[in-house]
Amino acid sequence: APVLAIETSCDDTACAVLAQDGTVLAERVVSQTAHAALGGVVPEIAARAHLDVLPALTRAVLGDAGLNLQHLGAIAASTGPGLIGGLIVGSTFAKGLALARGLPFIAVNHIEAHALTARLPSVAGPGGLSFPYLLLLVSGGHCQCVAVRGVGHYERLGGTIDDAAGEAFDKVAKMLGLGWPGGPAVEALAREGDPEAVDLPRPLYGKPGCDFSFSGLKTAVSRKLEPFGRAALPLRDAADMAASFQACVADIMADRAEHAARLVPDATALVVAGGVAANSAIRQALEGVASSRNWRFLAPPLRLCTDNAVMVAWAAIEHLRARGDAPDDLTVAARPRWPLSESLARTA
Ligand code: ATP
Ligand code: FE
Repeated sequence: APVLAIETSCDDTACAVLAQDGTVLAERVVSQTAHAALGGVVPEIAARAHLDVLPALTRAVLGDAGLNLQHLGAIAASTGPGLIGGLIVGSTFAKGLALARGLPFIAVNHIEAHALTARLPSVAGPGGLSFPYLLLLVSGGHCQCVAVRGVGHYERLGGTIDDAAGEAFDKVAKMLGLGWPGGPAVEALAREGDPEAVDLPRPLYGKPGCDFSFSGLKTAVSRKLEPFGRAALPLRDAADMAASFQACVADIMADRAEHAARLVPDATALVVAGGVAANSAIRQALEGVASSRNWRFLAPPLRLCTDNAVMVAWAAIEHLRARGDAPDDLTVAARPRWPLSESLARTA
């Protein structure tokens, strides 16, 4: 029977219904717009907004799928990591539905959902995607290399020691006077600029391991912009800075992915996920890493890279398959931090 999933870990309220084979029967995302004017996500506003839209959103998604609650086999929700208010709202709502209908509730780790998205039949293709594979998760809140060895078997190979990649994009966008979220704006501006115009540092580039660091890069951008003071930055300079910064991040990603790949020699694919995976310069750089190893390169479509409920439903389906009997996670509490490595304990 189909699985309904709820995602509320940040500022998107999402709901989806998937058939057991991964077919998306219906899906909707409501993105909160109030945060743009505030320059970032305000947790309390986000949690209240999730609460406002969830009931109607869920009804609408079930309607789109032509289903009622009694047709479902399970209900899932992200229970972490993320903003605790939103996680509590979404998972409590989902638990309530499950309890009322006597359905199993499946608690999904949001990062795990990102990690398993590439195995959705519509993304992996007819042959599917087998384990192990290397995942680069690059979003506003996360930046890490993960060896995905099986459902519940994740090894964090490295990650950022300061900012996440998306965070760096957002901060540089702010310095350039662009709006929030910054990633898409920086990419658009970079198209008009010369990626070699500004000499910027590439922290940790070529160093052993696969950790990331972006704060030195961000500081360098800020220093280079100092001479312009409070005056408006000429468009040409802004575009060159955007292009140079983006090229720098793409180089760093490729180098770190290359190092991570050596740690998963039996992998056959490099998968990229998270909002920053929307960036075409970064995609291109990572595609190069994959092709140099004869690996597949998989980048889920943008709507599946950013926060969505399809991935949450899919992760629940993967868990149902891996765990066999119907699990019931009604007692699993929402948690702001939930390292991927801890999923293992829950499923073993
Ligand atoms: P998380 O999923 O880790 O909790 P999040 O909700 O912020 O965090 P996403 O929605 O996956 O993450 O991604 C948003 C981030 O992606 C933002 O920082 C945004 O600037 C960045 N981003 C989006 N599009 C692009 C792009 N084209 N180029 C670079 N960065 C981008
Ligand atoms: Fe996310």
